[in-house]
Amino acid sequence: MNKNEMIWDLSQLVERTDTTSIQKKLESMVTEAEKIRDTYHGKIVGLDAKGVLELLEMKDAYVLKFEGVNKYCRLMYSADSTDAVAKQLNDATRRAYTKVGQTLAFIEIELGKLLAQKPSLVTDSRLAEYKHYLERILRRVPHMLSETEERLIITKDRNGIKAWEMLQSDWLSTRTFDIEIEGETRTLPYGEIIGFYQSPDRDLRKRANQTVYEGLGNDEIVWASAIRAVCEDHLQMCELRKYQNPMTQSFIANDVDQQTIDSLVNTIKKNVDLYQRYLKLKAKLMGLDKLANYDIVAPLPNAPKMEYAWRDSRKEISDAYIGFDMQIGGWVDEMFERRHIDGEVRKGKSSGAFCSSWMAGKSAYILQSFNKRLGDVYTQAHELGHAVHAYLGSRAQKPSNLEIGSCIAETGSIFGELLLTERLLSKAKTKEEKQAILANILDEFGMAAFQVSARIFFEQSMYDTIKRGEFLDGETVAKLWVAARNKIYGDSVDWLPIMKWEWTMKLHYYIANYRFYNYPYVFAQLFVFALYKVYKEQGENFVPKLKRLLAAGSSKSPRELAAEVGFDITDETFWEKGIEQAREFIDMLEKTI
Ligand SMILES: [Zn+2]
Repeated sequence: MNKNEMIWDLSQLVERTDTTSIQKKLESMVTEAEKIRDTYHGKIVGLDAKGVLELLEMKDAYVLKFEGVNKYCRLMYSADSTDAVAKQLNDATRRAYTKVGQTLAFIEIELGKLLAQKPSLVTDSRLAEYKHYLERILRRVPHMLSETEERLIITKDRNGIKAWEMLQSDWLSTRTFDIEIEGETRTLPYGEIIGFYQSPDRDLRKRANQTVYEGLGNDEIVWASAIRAVCEDHLQMCELRKYQNPMTQSFIANDVDQQTIDSLVNTIKKNVDLYQRYLKLKAKLMGLDKLANYDIVAPLPNAPKMEYAWRDSRKEISDAYIGFDMQIGGWVDEMFERRHIDGEVRKGKSSGAFCSSWMAGKSAYILQSFNKRLGDVYTQAHELGHAVHAYLGSRAQKPSNLEIGSCIAETGSIFGELLLTERLLSKAKTKEEKQAILANILDEFGMAAFQVSARIFFEQSMYDTIKRGEFLDGETVAKLWVAARNKIYGDSVDWLPIMKWEWTMKLHYYIANYRFYNYPYVFAQLFVFALYKVYKEQGENFVPKLKRLLAAGSSKSPRELAAEVGFDITDETFWEKGIEQAREFIDMLEKTI
């Protein structure tokens, strides 16, 4: 197999890849932002609907013009943070980006002021395309600070919370771990050793967990300093910006409301026993009295060997999407054909997986560490679902309508995983294969809907602790994590004591200005399970509905999007539909025993 197939080709993002051209382009990104500022600064409050339309169209064109170069630098760095050129370009783009952010910060502030004075602009027919974009700005207005303050915050954040975020990520991706494999001690980067969490060898799984968390626990001071700084900063910003509670900012960012999220979280709390039922069933399938933490997402011991070469994975996933819709399936295959996916495992590569939309190219780029396991195929199907969202969205919407909140952002991705499940189940020849596939999707469901709910409780408890005036050192954070975790798992799992450090590696806890990143995963999981049920009921009539939903980008709120397919997401009965779909899978699994 040609190794290059697994390495992405970033050159498509830019006209020229030499460092001088890249830097020149970054410079002109800053100069053009300054031109926009010179034209509009102080004048937006006086604009009429036509003027606002011109401004927004110009801003969207500007975003598209410089998106590629910015992405080129950042993606290159995420593929290998030890590469000197990547480091230099990433730093250059970060500096340019910060400057642009400072230079253009006035647009939203002035638009906010204008909308506060003339709210009728939001419903002006000339601005119809930007209606929800403007509604969202109007919602942020009461929390905005003065232009000077906003600019100061951007400047401070770069070497403040953003530096803590970068430290956590760089520190993690450059750690190595010594582990004995078949009598030989090997030194592995984080991205590689976590592949053993899914090993069929139970002892190896246990040792991999023990080794990783012992290592990460040794650096508790790094992780605790980072998480504390990011959380304390958030609480201070909540006070300054007059957010009702630490979640409010996320509601605005995710375009949802307290009522919806309360109803979601209540549904989870009420159904903890369903997840525990699955975990007990899984213990039975594994021939154990009780699962240990390193069994929760492990493959079943009698699972047939399912190893997927890069090309096998490509075929299964493309076919799964083609079975749903030809056009979507074609785009998925194109992602491989044009080498938009980086799957090679290497040191210095950022951990986990992501999909980065490329609006100007009406496509996307995906990064993952492909270890040939069923889980890697699922990750690929997941990220390709994001890519499908990007293909549909970039064809229907301007950049201002593609600021998709995290609740809806996972719709294409999880739906893709279910399509893959359907395909793999239909091809399964033995009950062991069926069990392995069902366990895989239920493991995912359990993690996204229930384990991630523990992270909601955990994050909330960190803010509560700080508010009580207590200091978040490593041990305190560890205690909070264990307490939150136990609310979900009860006594259904035995944990290695070292697992108290599980929070240290979770990138999301450290991402600046991205608080409560967690409940959108829960939202998305239940949302898509419910949609999938409708798809099974309606068949191909459902296809254009899902495509419309994805193509809408952020031009409508999740509540509106759900209403269009006939659901009220502020009502617990809606979320119970997702639970029902999960129960169906669990019943199906139980019947195989
Ligand atoms: Zn995702």
